Amino acid sequence: MLPQKIAYLNLDTTDVEIKEIPKKITKKFLGGRGINMYLLYNHVKPETDPLSSENPLIIGPGLLTGLKGISASRCNISGKSPETGLLGDSNIGGYFGAFMKRTGIDYLFITGASKRPVYIYLDDEGISIEDAKDLWGKCTTETNTILKKRYGPSSQSISIGIAGENLVRFACIINRKKNAAGRTGMGCLMGAKKIKAIVANGKKVLKPKDEPRFNELIKDLHQKLDKEPLVKVLSEFGSVHLFKLINEQIGMGRVYNGLSMTFPENKDISPDILKEKYYTGKAGCFSCPVACQHRYKVNEIKSEGPEYTILASFGPVVGIKRLETVLYINDLINSYGLDASSTSNLIAWAIELFKKGLIDEEITNGLKLDWGDEEAIIELIHQIAHRKSFGDILANGAKEAVRQLGEKTSKYIIWTKYLPQSDPVDLRYLPAYALGNSVASRGSDHLRSRPTWEAYGLSEEQLKAIYGGHVSPNPRSYEGKGRVIWWWETYLSLFDALGLCKLIAFHCRPGLLSFEFFSELIRYATDLDLTPQEIFEVGERIVNLERMFIVKKEIKRQDDFPPQRYFEPLVYQEGLTPEKKDLKLDKAGFHQMLDEYYQLRGWDKEGRPLDETKVRLGLSQ
Ligand code: SF4
Repeated sequence: MLPQKIAYLNLDTTDVEIKEIPKKITKKFLGGRGINMYLLYNHVKPETDPLSSENPLIIGPGLLTGLKGISASRCNISGKSPETGLLGDSNIGGYFGAFMKRTGIDYLFITGASKRPVYIYLDDEGISIEDAKDLWGKCTTETNTILKKRYGPSSQSISIGIAGENLVRFACIINRKKNAAGRTGMGCLMGAKKIKAIVANGKKVLKPKDEPRFNELIKDLHQKLDKEPLVKVLSEFGSVHLFKLINEQIGMGRVYNGLSMTFPENKDISPDILKEKYYTGKAGCFSCPVACQHRYKVNEIKSEGPEYTILASFGPVVGIKRLETVLYINDLINSYGLDASSTSNLIAWAIELFKKGLIDEEITNGLKLDWGDEEAIIELIHQIAHRKSFGDILANGAKEAVRQLGEKTSKYIIWTKYLPQSDPVDLRYLPAYALGNSVASRGSDHLRSRPTWEAYGLSEEQLKAIYGGHVSPNPRSYEGKGRVIWWWETYLSLFDALGLCKLIAFHCRPGLLSFEFFSELIRYATDLDLTPQEIFEVGERIVNLERMFIVKKEIKRQDDFPPQRYFEPLVYQEGLTPEKKDLKLDKAGFHQMLDEYYQLRGWDKEGRPLDETKVRLGLSQ
């Protein structure tokens, strides 16, 4: 598996150069997101226009992606974000990453731009650029199906839909029907280069270096996973089971763009109904022992999903109460290649603006917007993907849409660092969760740090053993929560670097997927010898390099806060419990968490990595 290889492809000249990644760089960053960030930091200047041909599209499966039995399916896709102008990075499951590794190419670094639609084809022989005239204008699913038929069962593709072709700033990239590199507009970057799809058709079967010991380790892991109660629930329902936990039991789901936390009279948006009435079979990513994805049928549509993010974003966040409509939207946005989080947030924002009178029918071209108005919401999705009418403004992404609709609209968008919040959770409830979303390097995001164990009721001693310092067991407290996020960010960056699935991490109890486990896994798979402490430092290094990238764009402390809305009580108070009526984040408490987080990271008061931190992590040159 080592040395890893990188293919530099220039679409202006069609030149391809293949280089080996030095072992010392692999040791420092492992792979996937780690190597992508190393490449991005060293090649992209602060002034680079995200849609210019210099902005690279970097495709990087994790170090272990393609190995069997450990959910090693993941692949990071990175570049400067067309959506935020800052860090662009997105993680995709499915099959593409594993099949790309089989070609013997571990990373693709694509610069330049084609003048005509193309797709890129990789196999064991090399790389070619193919004409995509017949694919341009087709949806993601159809494109992937055509390419599968063309190249056969040993091939997998990722593609953009109409949204990416039309340079919708939050367009995503899809493998198969629903596996998405969703966030930060990497589909837009692909569209700007006129790349409709990338096909990997590799036949080299990947083998771990020490196969017997690797297999033993995986066998043991599977036995332990079988005993994890939440992993079983994940496998049975998919991530939608979180709707029960987050929206129904804890009641911290975001409703009506964060104006409320109750969703009255909802009888249909439910994981149980989804499973009973619509699921038709299971699906999963490459060689995943959990296989949490599901196929469904609704009327004439046969599709896959939805994830919790879509169920709750196109349910409570925009106010839709019919499950069939959400299932229809799930298929629609994946076919268009639109990021579900940004699309739903922008629509919820537009509805609130309309209801407040900050925009009117003159701006929306006659479209009346209201919570749960299915027809208007679906029409807006079509308009965004096709860049038509009012949808054209939203298709520019939140940052530009705010500029066009006026600064007064900015306080109603749920975002941080110009990225609409990734998941449909109200950040008022868990301070640690709010901090994690706010300091995330790519903008408001839960997948960089989701501190799941906040809800596990762990004792002070257990928390100290995990995090190495004092953490309050009270999930509503601010005490020690800077430490919690420092640890989780570091931990999860390793899943992205290794190509493992974070969804499994969120569903396991502490201690199972440990740094010791990673150390053995890496040693048996690749022969790289890294201690648990050295692996922790890889995670720190990745997070610091990302910070160094956005600090170059002058991101600082003031950009590490959630929207002001979360520091105020909910606007719709009807039906709330007394506790929820006064629920809001506390500014002083938030500053306290931020101070602790910066200090543990080795950053100054403005969130800039200190020289000594850069030296310690080998990032000073
Ligand atoms: S747990 Fe689900 S999302 Fe994660 S790798 Fe397995 S099938 Fe894919």
